[in-house]
Amino acid sequence: MQGAPQQTDTRVRDLAGALAYHGHPDAPATLRVRDWSPPERSSRAVRALATCWGLAVLAVFLPVLHFVLVPSLLVAGPVVALSRLREHRTVRGASGTCPACGAAQAFAVSGALRDVTPVRCDACGRAISLRAPVTTAPD
Ligand SMILES: [Zn+2]
Repeated sequence: MQGAPQQTDTRVRDLAGALAYHGHPDAPATLRVRDWSPPERSSRAVRALATCWGLAVLAVFLPVLHFVLVPSLLVAGPVVALSRLREHRTVRGASGTCPACGAAQAFAVSGALRDVTPVRCDACGRAISLRAPVTTAPD
């Protein structure tokens, strides 16, 4: 796909991880992560809270659905905001070779960086584990 060049973000960097599958040696993997500074985490938390509560206000005008949506969004706001506040790193993608079949591929993973993320090999369909590096402290 061609288009405008991606924005260069100095906080996006690659980390060395591993792909694991039962009974096979681990294969090296590269995780693309985005680090969040404390002000950015606070900003993301406030935006998440504002979005959920703003949608809750809009949901008041939806007949019948407002019985479910309004309380759900009011509760979801602080929950999502707290998770954003605690999220120091976000995974933007990963790549590596499948430890079972050896196919090189990119994995569409996103969300908070966790120790182990389950992914599925596109080539052989096996469920493999994407392991993040043990040290998660920013450099
Ligand atoms: Zn595979």
